[in-house]
Amino acid sequence: MNSPSSVTIIDGKAAAARVLNDVRDAVSALKEYDLHPALAVVLVGHDPASQVYVRNKVLRAEETGIRSVEHKLTVDTTEAELLDLIAGLNADPAINGILVQLPLPAHIDENRVLQAIDPLKDVDGFHSENVGGLSQGRDVLTPCTPSGCMHLLHDTLGDLNGKHAVVVGRSNIVGKPMAALLLQANCTVTVLHSRSVNARELCRQADIVVAAVGRPRMLDASWLKPGSVVIDVGINRIDEGGKTRLVGDVDFDSALSVVSAITPVPGGVGPMTIALLMKNTVSATQLQQPALSTHSTRAEAPCLSIS
Ligand code: NAD
Repeated sequence: MNSPSSVTIIDGKAAAARVLNDVRDAVSALKEYDLHPALAVVLVGHDPASQVYVRNKVLRAEETGIRSVEHKLTVDTTEAELLDLIAGLNADPAINGILVQLPLPAHIDENRVLQAIDPLKDVDGFHSENVGGLSQGRDVLTPCTPSGCMHLLHDTLGDLNGKHAVVVGRSNIVGKPMAALLLQANCTVTVLHSRSVNARELCRQADIVVAAVGRPRMLDASWLKPGSVVIDVGINRIDEGGKTRLVGDVDFDSALSVVSAITPVPGGVGPMTIALLMKNTVSATQLQQPALSTHSTRAEAPCLSIS
């Protein structure tokens, strides 16, 4: 049993601020080579949560010197109109990243839209070219939330070689790319899902647990090995004492008695997602560099690494 004071509470806000600082430096350096990273954000409809997410993404872009271009489309926009817009953004050399805010209205085929984005501008990392590249260990644009989780794990543990990591959840957005990134970092990876048998026992063997289920406080101390590191991706809105609050997929107070480190909700993974989106926009700009090279200074622009 831990004393809760010996547990590291992983500060996602501070980690995100460090990533954003690096992004700001990289953007400034790129501008010296006449490269001006720009992110197009496409929102279809008026979903209030999506509007908040888009506003935050645009704000972070401005803070880091990335130019953002918002495309707000009405809810009755057709799939063909949206595909036309994406084709235009793909062809526009002044746009480096394209983000289509999900979910899309039901009459639009989400997969067709994501597949229409140029993989080199796919800052969400959802195009099958990038999904395939990730599973092959190629240097491609990777989904922001799992990449943010990897940053937090490296910050907390350093080398992840040989660690047993359990990912709870197998969505295309979080669980599967998370498992691929952990494998790339030489972890032994187990993926649990809604049909897993003995999930709790398997999870209790993990050095690292990444919870991405969408069920409030599902994992309590009985799911966790003493000394394990827990990354809680879940964001669940619950009513408690007449007030709504956000909680994760992990029962934070219960977990404190066993884990060595854990992310809080809010203030853990959430801030990292947007920070990694900005990092991906810089990476996309760099990946496009040969195609964009119209004069020698661009061709000579350095490859800026962001840790
Ligand atoms: P999803 O609904 O697409 O996937 C949930 C997964 O959980 C599924 O693969 C399912 O098999 C698994 N699951 C369901 N019940 C289970 C059970 N009893 N045991 C084991 N596995 C079970 O959700 P998602 O998009 O991956 O999101 C998961 C959570 O992460 C949500 O709370 C979401 O809001 C949150 N999220 C947070 C961020 C962030 O930036 N922090 C980003 C994306 C998602």
